[in-house]
Amino acid sequence: MKCPFAQWQGPTSNQVSGGMKDHRGLVLHIAQSPDAQGTINWQKNPTAQVSSHFVNDVDGTLYQVVDTDDMAWAEMAGNGEWLSVENIGYSGNPLTNAQVQTLGKLFAWISQNFNVPLVATDDPNGSGLGWHGMGGDAWGGHLQCPGDPIKAQRPQILAVAIAIVNPQIPTTTPIPTSEDNMNQSNIPENTLGTVIVPRSITGNAIVTVAAFGDAIGTADVRSRDGSVKPLFGGSSTPGAFAILDNASSSAVIPPNSDVVWIKTTTIPVSVLIEPQP
Ligand SMILES: [Zn+2]
Repeated sequence: MKCPFAQWQGPTSNQVSGGMKDHRGLVLHIAQSPDAQGTINWQKNPTAQVSSHFVNDVDGTLYQVVDTDDMAWAEMAGNGEWLSVENIGYSGNPLTNAQVQTLGKLFAWISQNFNVPLVATDDPNGSGLGWHGMGGDAWGGHLQCPGDPIKAQRPQILAVAIAIVNPQIPTTTPIPTSEDNMNQSNIPENTLGTVIVPRSITGNAIVTVAAFGDAIGTADVRSRDGSVKPLFGGSSTPGAFAILDNASSSAVIPPNSDVVWIKTTTIPVSVLIEPQP
């Protein structure tokens, strides 16, 4: 399958046609290069013996070199079960916001077409949004690919994907109402919504608020001792968040928090709560 919003750059001989046995999810890589076209050219050079399904440029332009039915050569033992994306840039640096947005859009498309859950995973036998080093020696021992800052951006990528897959959940206030699967939620515009921090998260958690467009609102967190603290703002003011230009805001929630309130104004937001990596 060719992704409708990727610019097709194939074919390459560095692949196995029809070689995908499964689609467990998407593996993040870092290209160690500043140059998307050079990376693509190398993947099309028979002497390179490498390729990836996708290449994500620093400006968020997405290229596709290998069809999703075919096996790219990006992570050795994982090649037959995982789709791969090379991100332009260097290990140790974070992705640009444009790259995060593109990965969210790509992962949403993968989730919808291959029934992949919208979660992060560190398990080569699992499913979701993974990273190259999680496969260890069997995947080539590239433990610093794509690097810690990019691994830590997975909640933002997921929040973008969740907002695409579940653009709105019709609801009354507050939402949601059961403690199952509480860690993600969509809150409509002009609503005071609540998201319950999963009890399974015993340490710090990260809450990410994502939206498409200019979302403005406030966010507060209640500790289990009953005290209320602002999430994004200063110590004495409500935690104001402002999301401009399709970005996301994230903040750390201390242990023993139980509820996050999000007050939206003009547009809906997507909220994701995950353990801090
Ligand atoms: Zn890699």
